[in-house]
Amino acid sequence: MTLTLLCLPGDGIGPEIMAATRDTVAAVCASHGVAVALPEAEIGFAALAAAGTTIAKAVIDAARAADGVILGPVSHNAYPPVAEGGRNPSGVLRRELGLFANIRPARSHSAVPTPTGAAVDLVVVRENLEGFYADRNMHEGGGEVMPVPGVALAMRRITAENSRNIARAGYALAAREGRGKVALIHKANVMRLSDGLFLDCCRAVARDYPQIETTEVLVDAAAALLVRDPGAFDVLIATNMFGDILSDLAAELAGGLGLAASLNHGDTHAVAQAQHGSAPDLAGQDVANPASLIGSAAMLLAHLGHAGPAASLQDALARALRDPATRTSDLGGALGTRAFADTLCTLISEST
Ligand code: ATP
Ligand code: MG
Repeated sequence: MTLTLLCLPGDGIGPEIMAATRDTVAAVCASHGVAVALPEAEIGFAALAAAGTTIAKAVIDAARAADGVILGPVSHNAYPPVAEGGRNPSGVLRRELGLFANIRPARSHSAVPTPTGAAVDLVVVRENLEGFYADRNMHEGGGEVMPVPGVALAMRRITAENSRNIARAGYALAAREGRGKVALIHKANVMRLSDGLFLDCCRAVARDYPQIETTEVLVDAAAALLVRDPGAFDVLIATNMFGDILSDLAAELAGGLGLAASLNHGDTHAVAQAQHGSAPDLAGQDVANPASLIGSAAMLLAHLGHAGPAASLQDALARALRDPATRTSDLGGALGTRAFADTLCTLISEST
């Protein structure tokens, strides 16, 4: 049976890092005898120009029908209003496919320098459907109101259902990966109702995992501790915005956004997506680091039960990153996006 992964290149550096990702995924699947189809569809500005919307219904249907999706970054901040076709494809897919969890590992590579010199190996498990971003997702731009000039209000929705879902995803990941510690990230001393509900739901799930050590850490203290002693953390479970911010911090501490992979998943669908945005400053120059999206694709392969190709892809990444000569410029190397992908394909073919 052919594995179908829908590829959505997106905006900015998206098309370049997607081309690199498709080639390496095709190479690693071929080397493991896994039949894979990597159909491409347009989203973002390219789709807006061609079809009048940044994500057409046909693309959402194709995403639902595929085994998985590889999603490029999108410049949604620059899109026209929703009424003119400017929907955020990332938010639309999260909602339409029920992707309640965003798994964001931060893992340093021994040969790649980190800003503090410390090794990092942790996973931020971020709630993906609600929090401060909830109503933005539901109504696309309608989540904030200005009742009178000079006063703006933002809604933060926390539900027991999504809190339980993200807690279960986090503890299941910890158990599966042999990670012994879970930190619940919150601000319940101030946001007593919403973070209180989130914490209560997480504590209930924690009782099913007595072998895992659970701590509760205020989000501000967590940011400080991440910089001082990243080894104190193993799995962090967080609401949407706190997880978004802490995972960028962790990614930078682990070696940079160009390495930061992530997987969005629910109970039935999964979408690989780099942690960073569309980096318009780098677009079209063949300089972006595709390791972020390639690592995300490896997470997707593993999630879909293809542990062999996933491990080979991670191994090729680790071997390329070991040598400064086979890194991209964000990591002090000289390779372009295309050449880095070619290096990975060579490493994959050599190891089989
Ligand atoms: P967006 O509005 O889409 O989020 P952005 O300008 O905030 O775009 P990000 O992609 O979020 O850009 O990243 C911030 C900066 O980090 C970029 O401007 C770029 O310099 C760097 N960066 C991000 N991704 C990569 C990458 N894959 N390779 C190299 N550098 C990157
Ligand atoms: Mg950004």
